[in-house]
Amino acid sequence: MIASSVRGLGRAARCVAAVAAGLTVACADPSTAPASLQIDALALRQSAESITAAEFARLVGIIADDSMRGRATPSPELELTAAFAAESFRSVGLVAGGDAGGFIQRYPVTTPQGVVTSTPPNTIGILEGSDATLRAEYIIISAHMDAVGVTGGGQNCAASGADSTCNGANDNGSGTVGVLQLARAFAALPRRPARTIIFALFSGEERGLWGSAYFAKSPSRPLSQAVAVLNIDMIGRNATDSLVVVGKTYSTLGQAADRMTLAHPEVGMRLVNDPWNGTYFTRSDQYSFAKLGVPSLFFFNGPHGDVHTARDAVALLNADAAARAVRMIFYVANDVAGTAKRPTWDPAARARWVVPVVR
Ligand SMILES: [Zn+2]
Repeated sequence: MIASSVRGLGRAARCVAAVAAGLTVACADPSTAPASLQIDALALRQSAESITAAEFARLVGIIADDSMRGRATPSPELELTAAFAAESFRSVGLVAGGDAGGFIQRYPVTTPQGVVTSTPPNTIGILEGSDATLRAEYIIISAHMDAVGVTGGGQNCAASGADSTCNGANDNGSGTVGVLQLARAFAALPRRPARTIIFALFSGEERGLWGSAYFAKSPSRPLSQAVAVLNIDMIGRNATDSLVVVGKTYSTLGQAADRMTLAHPEVGMRLVNDPWNGTYFTRSDQYSFAKLGVPSLFFFNGPHGDVHTARDAVALLNADAAARAVRMIFYVANDVAGTAKRPTWDPAARARWVVPVVR
């Protein structure tokens, strides 16, 4: 443990010295991608550091404002959130990955009799990869943008005194903003990662992973080309110096998380193992893909008593810690998108989580 940290700090110190001397190549992590796939380390660091606490606070203040009435699925406020995300993706130059050339993908919600009662939105944006071969493969960076609405709205939003709005600031305004920040940070790189990245904000998660289940069945690109899912849910509360990565031991993706913890001590956010033995792995959108065989990581900093209550409010978030969590996810996503070898499952984890195909 100590030896590893010292080695990581040593490389970081060498990197800082090299940057100061104008020699950015010394910062590259030799354990990740071949030279031809690596992104300039200084550009990478500048993009990571453009993910700020101030921007996180500004964006989550919009999405989790009382006027958004807890972004229930379906609701006019969920539609506003989806449109806000679509405009954000468009403005940074992502390609539309939704229906009919737009950023919005809609899925039908039906009664048991098959009557369609609503068509909630997912928001999907694509950053094409830069490598002629690997760009055909993609990683998904996702979060759910819906919350549980207001008290009495049918989704068990618990009031707090006179406050009946379940803002969903941590669950999952935090992850939603993380995806918006990551999209902007990746799009700003002078050279894109080798693999394509699909940024996805799903709705209906709180209803039972509706949006992600639909996307997994009707993806923008064939699911066989999806090499990894990095899903973010509830990263704005609890620990401020570590972030739990549920699924870190389930596939070789965990090695990317460990590499980035060692390579980037300056972020001050260690990526740590799941202390709950997989309890939460089925409880957010990564499961819609993992059960179909896509190796997945779930960035999640744990439950708290305010989940699905009117106390899950913006004022209780730690924007500084959340932004540093997003920076670490940026480094992990870059590593995964730029490493030629496709991630693979641990066999025991695959047997535990991937649903066998019935023929
Ligand atoms: Zn959630």
